[in-house]
Parts: sequence; C-alpha cells; structure tokens
Amino acid sequence: MRPSIRLGRIFGIDIGLHYSWFLIALLIMLSLAAHFQAVNPQWSVGLRWSLAAVTGLLFFASILAHELSHAAVAKARGIPVRSITLFALGGVANIEKESSDAESEFWMAIAGPITSLVIGFLFLGIARAAGWQAESGTPPAPLWAGLVWLGYINVALALFNMIPGYPLDGGRVLRAIIWGINHNLVRATRMAADVGQFIAITFIVFGFFRFFYSGAFGGLWLAFIGWFLSDAAAASRATAEVTVALEHVRVGDVMSQDCPAIEGNINLRTFAEDYLLRTGRRWFVVIQNGRQLGLVTINELRRTDRNRWSFTTVADIALPLDRLRTVSPDTYLTTALEVMAQENVIQLPVISNGELAGVISRNNIVQFMETQQELAGEGVGRSRAA
Ligand SMILES: [Zn+2]
Repeated sequence: MRPSIRLGRIFGIDIGLHYSWFLIALLIMLSLAAHFQAVNPQWSVGLRWSLAAVTGLLFFASILAHELSHAAVAKARGIPVRSITLFALGGVANIEKESSDAESEFWMAIAGPITSLVIGFLFLGIARAAGWQAESGTPPAPLWAGLVWLGYINVALALFNMIPGYPLDGGRVLRAIIWGINHNLVRATRMAADVGQFIAITFIVFGFFRFFYSGAFGGLWLAFIGWFLSDAAAASRATAEVTVALEHVRVGDVMSQDCPAIEGNINLRTFAEDYLLRTGRRWFVVIQNGRQLGLVTINELRRTDRNRWSFTTVADIALPLDRLRTVSPDTYLTTALEVMAQENVIQLPVISNGELAGVISRNNIVQFMETQQELAGEGVGRSRAA
C-alpha cells in the first residue's frame, strides 16, 4: 500500500498515512465522543471532544508501536523495512522480502500482538493505579475512561491479530510453524492462506447473518473485514503459486538477449533522433574500442541540458555496468523479481563475466508464465498482458 501522506521517519523507516485513515479516524472520534457522553454525561462538549481526540491519537500511536515492533524484529534479523503505512484497518509494515528462515518469521509476526498486549495491560494498569476498578465497569466520572478504552482496544487488537488467517499476524505465526515443520515456505504459505480464506468466509457469513437477524451494524463491519481478509489471502496464495511456477527457473532461461548497441562517439542529438525516436527503444549498450562501456537510457539524456546535446557523446553520459543493480544468468527468477520490487524498476540488466548478456523484464516473466500455462492446457485464449 502506498502512503498518501508522509508523516516522517522513525529509525530510518518512512511513516505514512493512507487516505482511508481519515475516515476511520473520524469514526473513532465520533464513537469515542458518544462513549464519553454515555459514561460521563456531566462533561462539557469541549472536554468530551478533546479527550476523544487525545484518546484517538493514542490509539493510532499504539497501532504504530505494533507495526514498529514488527519492523524492529525484521531489521534485527537483517530484513530491510521500507515503510509503515497506517490505513482504515490498522497499519502495514512494508517489509522488502520474505524472511529467510521460519524462526525469524515467527518472531517478526508475533512481536506485534505481544506489543499490543503489553500496551493494553499498561493502559489498564495505569487506569487501575489511578483508582479505576474493573469490577464496577467503566467509572462514571474520572478521566481514565480513555485509558480503559485504550487498554481494552489494544488487548482486542492483539487477539484479533492472532486469528490464524494469513496474512494476519496469527496466520504468519501459523505459516512460520508449518514452515518450521515441513521446510517448504511455498506449501506453508498455501496452507496458511487457505486457513485465512476459510476464516474470511466465516467472517462474511457470520457478519451478514448478524446484520440481517439483529440489525447490528457490527455485523456489516465484520463482513467488510472478512472481505478484506479474503482478498489478502487470495493475493498471498497467488504469490505462492507464482513462486511455485518460477521456483527452479533462472534468469538465463527467460531473459531477452537482444541488446541494441550504440558507438560511444555518437553525440546526444543523433542518439535522440536516430536511435531513441526511430527505434522506440529506451536503452542502448555503449560500445567503445570494441568493449562495453555501459548503458545509456532516455533518463541520462533527459538529465543533460538540451543545448549541450551536440557536443556531448553517449560515452560521456553512459552508466558504467558495475554501478547498476544487475543480476546474472544464474540468478533465480524469484530473486530477480524481488530485486525489481526493491529497486522499483520493471527490468534489470543481466551481466555475465563483466559483460551485458541480456535484459530481464517483467514482460519476459509474464510471457514465460503464460506459455507455461498454455502448455499445461490452461489459460488458452487468455489475453496477453502488455
Ligand atoms: Zn501486526
């Protein structure tokens, strides 16, 4: 999920908000204000709303702490974390790759619910120390109404996240356990995603049932969460299927070996007019004295002042091969896909013995998979992805 608004950085991780967050923030403020009015009718409007705002902010801070704890374990285990995004249903930490072992996955997944549980009991503990008595329910007057609400909501968050449906934290824990037993990440993901799918459907059915028979809006909410979970589980399963299909395939089997070349002494005006415009290609290998100097793309051309195009050669602006993020023909396709996602590119140069051997692009991989599916008797007549 791409954040719509950047909030800042914590421990080198970008923190962002998705637009859907504002909707849920408003709903939570409204329901908190209503809750405070119900338990403390004597409060002024100003007090009720400011406490609702403070409590709401502390709630989102607790979700952020939950996500940061996932990120902290990931980082400690050497898995890079790019960003954390808060959205309508909580938060997501965008962790750049899968854990390399079941144990890391287990601790990474369980860190969030543990954090929520600790925060929950901390809030309840503070409320209790301030005089709140659980036995008498939410107290009529004192200021710790917000603390009690935060305590319960964080405990509920921990329990909800421990539901064993992948990709919820509990599902990740389940997957880590299966993975630890069968040593097969893909099969573990499939099984955890199937459990997730089953739980999601149960949520939807039960949610609609509650809504239609008791008119409870909580039922609709449950069905909505179920629908979201079902979507996420299906996407995880699809990723697992792709991983199976590509498991033993290497870059060299799929890459395009067609590398258009350009002489290093050609100036940028000729490059733009006779090469880029005429061929429609976006990159060329620069050759000088019979050896490859690097790559030149439309981006390097754009960065060069147009007035200097006639006096600048492609050799001047070429990107040396050793400064590019590249893969080798022996790299597994799944690794190449991970690198593309990390670098946010759709193709990568393939280097063999210091020379450009070809290019691997997402299109190559899509076409390869479609051919495989057609050979397997499936996907006949499917339209080709561009
Ligand atoms: Zn979590």
